[in-house]
Amino acid sequence: MTMPHRIGFIGLGLMGRAMAMNLHNAGFRVAVYNRTRADTTEFADLGCTVAATPKALARNSDTIITMVSDMAAMDAVLEGPEGVLPAFTGGSTLINMSTLSPEYTAALAKKCFISGVEFLDCPVAGSKPLAEKAQLVILAGGKKETVEKLSPVLKAMGRAIVYAGQAPAGTALKLCMNLLVAQMTTALAESAALAAAQGLDPQLLFSALEESPALNCGYFRMKKDNIINRDFPPAFQLKHMLKDARLMLAEAARAGLELPVTAAVEKLLAKSYNNGYGDKDLSVVLRSLTEK
Ligand code: NAP
Repeated sequence: MTMPHRIGFIGLGLMGRAMAMNLHNAGFRVAVYNRTRADTTEFADLGCTVAATPKALARNSDTIITMVSDMAAMDAVLEGPEGVLPAFTGGSTLINMSTLSPEYTAALAKKCFISGVEFLDCPVAGSKPLAEKAQLVILAGGKKETVEKLSPVLKAMGRAIVYAGQAPAGTALKLCMNLLVAQMTTALAESAALAAAQGLDPQLLFSALEESPALNCGYFRMKKDNIINRDFPPAFQLKHMLKDARLMLAEAARAGLELPVTAAVEKLLAKSYNNGYGDKDLSVVLRSLTEK
């Protein structure tokens, strides 16, 4: 990649903050924009430019990376007179790393193509602790040569890039990965609830899992403290998984496919959300199993 490469990063939430920091630490020239400006202070202290609007950021960047909540947030940063798209010129690149719908992603890819902007569809697998360690798995959609050209940027945030095909293939693969995360989380919560209901200490469940060559997996270990302490500081907020479960069900319905277990998981996530747990880690579903 020819240097200097100016990266504009939009969305300094749980994931974006760590990802932008890793880009800065890898030596890229990083400028940032976040809707809540207070969250940009640590980047300003490091000498990074803080843009007042997405448009101002885009004007001075070769590549814009977005890591925002959902489609409404993407519209808010891309569209309108202060958005990225009107300021972006041909030859620039937009890399979306947020989890959006495949349909939205395909339309965005088309919009970028018409404007001469390169587009990469690069959502990520891995939550906050893995983002902090630059250990994300990047699920890449778009032109293969663009993915290869931008791989130094992507590798500053992740341990691996899995190329999925043209956009929205990265997003499609992301939904498949998150289906597993959603079901593994609810399976773990139900198993711990069943242990407690039978008078067992849930710790015993983790002791047994640790000894099992088949079931001793990193994801269960990452959620152990949440389950044992019944405390759910967010690594991946429940509201985002609820969005993703609905995206999975919509994609399946479009293909005439039923996903009965995912549909049940969506109901439990929705109950947890309605009980006020949207901002907690999705493992908070444990609480909702024993609540009305
Ligand atoms: P988050 O902590 O909730 O951060 C969301 C970011 O989006 C914040 O910077 C927020 O700005 C911004 N935003 C929201 N609405 C906006 C709007 N209307 N206009 C402008 N900016 C807006 O979420 P996250 O955990 O970092 O996740 C970001 C994306 O990655 C989501 O699509 C999520 O599904 C996906 N993801 C998350 C994980 C995970 O484990 N956490 C893993 C993989 C993928 P403010 O600071 O102003 O609120």
